Amino acid sequence: MTIQWFPGHMAKARRQVTEKLKLIDVVIELLDARLPVSSRNPMINEIIEKKPKLVLLNKADLADSDITAEWISYFQEHEDTKALAVDAQSGQGIKQIPGQCRALMQHMLQKRADKGMLPRSIRALIVGIPNVGKSSLINRLANKNMAKTGDRPGVTKAQQWIKVGSELELLDTPGILWPKFEDQQVGLKLAASGAIKDEILDFIEVALYTANYLKEYYPDRLQERYGLDELPEDKVEIIERIGEKRGCLMRGGIIDYEKACELLLREVRAGKLGQISFERPEV
Ligand code: GDP
Repeated sequence: MTIQWFPGHMAKARRQVTEKLKLIDVVIELLDARLPVSSRNPMINEIIEKKPKLVLLNKADLADSDITAEWISYFQEHEDTKALAVDAQSGQGIKQIPGQCRALMQHMLQKRADKGMLPRSIRALIVGIPNVGKSSLINRLANKNMAKTGDRPGVTKAQQWIKVGSELELLDTPGILWPKFEDQQVGLKLAASGAIKDEILDFIEVALYTANYLKEYYPDRLQERYGLDELPEDKVEIIERIGEKRGCLMRGGIIDYEKACELLLREVRAGKLGQISFERPEV
């Protein structure tokens, strides 16, 4: 799915999220654990105003776990927000979500109890940019408890809720937000991680960015994966060496540069070079 964000789209997406906010207690903000800043809508806190928020660092299976741990502390310290590392594909970390939402709503639940009212389910909305894993997470949380209240006769179909255990209800359609594309670095990181499709950015440029990033932060992985005794300083040369080692050749034995770029990107995105994070918290 290729999404081009134009100002009109952005305004519409924001409006849709704002509408949904009226129905819920807690926002679950889904970010990519490999690039929590670039996979975020920078206006999120402004959009959700004062709603309590839980941050989920998804695709934690693909991210560098030490850096994910640093991000969790970062969110706690700098934004006073609880963050959890999850993997919506395997379900890792998912079980903690209802309890964390409840903790965020403790004040409201206590107030109801003080008034002698019965406890009610906490209502949550998942928000995030395209491809961050919103549908996967909803499916995971829904498990077999898919209870669409709208299916009952006489109930309007406007909003459907999914029951998660006994105390959480989730809106079945997530809020879609947009990343901050104006920043070239953001686009390159999103593309390097596979979060956006190759048609959007020149894949050669993305591969060069990736080679350079790996040279700086994960040189051993590059050397090991492609059997390079030494890493060239120049990113173009790194790609050439990868092409050479992997037999990406054109007629006459000339290195097929484009093929080597594709190979590097495919392997990084598939986790073949191990768990990689593209962003670290600034300390
Ligand atoms: P959405 O556009 O936000 O709804 O994203 P999807 O749920 O469709 O997920 C986008 C892609 O990411 C799919 O190929 C998923 O299988 C994959 N995905 C989602 N969550 C995870 C995860 O935690 N780990 C990994 N490795 N892949 C994931």
